[in-house]
Amino acid sequence: MSSTVRRAHGAVPDPVTVFDEGAPAVVNLDPDLLAALRRAATDAARDGVEFLVNGGWRSPEYQEQLFDEAVSKHGSEAEAARWVATPDTSAHVSGRAVDIGGSAARRWLSEHGADYGLCQIYRNEPWHYELRPEAVTAGCPPMYPDPTHDPRMRR
Ligand SMILES: [Zn+2]
Repeated sequence: MSSTVRRAHGAVPDPVTVFDEGAPAVVNLDPDLLAALRRAATDAARDGVEFLVNGGWRSPEYQEQLFDEAVSKHGSEAEAARWVATPDTSAHVSGRAVDIGGSAARRWLSEHGADYGLCQIYRNEPWHYELRPEAVTAGCPPMYPDPTHDPRMRR
């Protein structure tokens, strides 16, 4: 894929803000997740913290490419699955997950994210956030050690 095509499939070659209206990775996110992110980012900005999006919505084709790259890098599908989901299980493909940087934003989210329903899901992925609306009142659910422990990832 060319870089332009990759971007249309959800690649984020340079981080963008959650307010970006031109990045497919951002604008194709689930509307409720995007709204929560923008509310949180607006409040974080008052603390001098900026959210950057390193990954958001991805097409199934792009997710497959990332998974194949992870298999090459980690040596097996089982090991790759600890880090990258397949297209049919990834919450990124459904627009229901976002990868946030940098470190100040992650710190801010780990402290305040639950107030917006934004929860870290996997202990080994401090950048990966999904919307858990019930977290606003009940707090975020316990994290899975890594995605292989997530029942949604079992096919
Ligand atoms: Zn992610």
